[in-house]
Amino acid sequence: PATLGMLGGGQLGRFFVLAAHEMGYKVWVLDPDPNSPAGVAADRHLKAEFDDYAALDQLAAGCAAITTEFENVPAGTLDYLAKFVPVRPSADAVAICQNRVAEKTFLANNGIPHAPFAPINTEADVRNAPSVLFPGILKVARFGYDGKGQARVANHDEALAAFQAFKGEACVLEQMLKLDYEVSVVLARDEHGKVKCFPTAENAHARGILDVSIAPARASGCQRDTAEELAERIAEQLDYIGTMAVEFFVSRGELYVNEMAPRPHNSGHYTIDACVTDQFEQQVRALVGLPLGDARAHSAAVMVNLLGDIWYDPTQPGPDSHGHYREPDWSQLLAIPNLKLHLYGKHHARPGRKMGHFTVIDADPAKAVATAMAARTAIGIRDE
Ligand code: ATP
Ligand code: MG
Ligand code: MG
Repeated sequence: PATLGMLGGGQLGRFFVLAAHEMGYKVWVLDPDPNSPAGVAADRHLKAEFDDYAALDQLAAGCAAITTEFENVPAGTLDYLAKFVPVRPSADAVAICQNRVAEKTFLANNGIPHAPFAPINTEADVRNAPSVLFPGILKVARFGYDGKGQARVANHDEALAAFQAFKGEACVLEQMLKLDYEVSVVLARDEHGKVKCFPTAENAHARGILDVSIAPARASGCQRDTAEELAERIAEQLDYIGTMAVEFFVSRGELYVNEMAPRPHNSGHYTIDACVTDQFEQQVRALVGLPLGDARAHSAAVMVNLLGDIWYDPTQPGPDSHGHYREPDWSQLLAIPNLKLHLYGKHHARPGRKMGHFTVIDADPAKAVATAMAARTAIGIRDE
């Protein structure tokens, strides 16, 4: 059986390893963290940085094809590996998704609706930013995730202060849209250009981090179709091979692309329990050139993220400097027959850190929501 390579050792990589094993492949993971969830689950863990060329040579020599779970892998690394083995998605596609200026310029060039924005490289760019962008959000162009590297700014002065606080790093300034809600489309595209979209998910965030995904989204049917069409167009324009996600804002009934992720996506975790083929198996299939699987859902699903916060117990002394924590009592979740619990095996809980998730599946979408929200409260997740 072939060995597949994975750049990145997080939970997305771990689910890829599990899916690949399910199909008889071995997986080598490259990630510097010795405790990375995917590295621990892999057949071989190369503990090296993403620009360690000796390790990249090893990976290329040992693997039949290579993919990524980490959108900030240097594009140069993907280009280098592609000289030796198929790398999917391509460096070009990843480079666009990992830089907000390139990403939004790509959307603009392809006539895909997005929030009004301006690239910000200098203080003069802030001063010259059109007033329609306020109130807005200043976002660093690279390396932001879970709402990190973002500042909400009411006017030019606040934008200037935020730009200085980001130490003059390249940014984009985006108009703040009034959101009805947010949705995402996860899809897979194979080497022949065939696309399978998973049902559109509706996403609620807390503190900038995904909290709950509901699939199918409660949007109108035509909005869901439009979201899928836009996501498919993006994948085609990127000549994307693999699993990717497109996040959308819905504002005054209209769809706007927020950002793309060149990898499986947290809002697609529901596919593990609710779809014939899940987003990680699609990633495996696209990577090795097998036909994509059926992306249909057999149930409605609600996914709830389990962040490190619920591991905390201020009355218990922690085992180390990471503070006070204890394993939550999972029995109350496990007692729910249509609930599936997934834990990522991370060693340390931190507030806001993604430690696991659960998914409730139900033939009745409203019941799935009610069960999941009750379970979310029962396990100790509080709304702010
Ligand atoms: P992710 O973890 O999804 O990669 P991120 O750090 O890249 O997140 P964004 O997706 O850009 O951040 O923004 C995080 C959230 O902030 C969005 O899902 C949305 O709720 C809110 N947000 C971001 N940009 C805007 C905007 N222009 N108008 C309104 N809300 C916004
Ligand atoms: Mg992002
Ligand atoms: Mg996002």
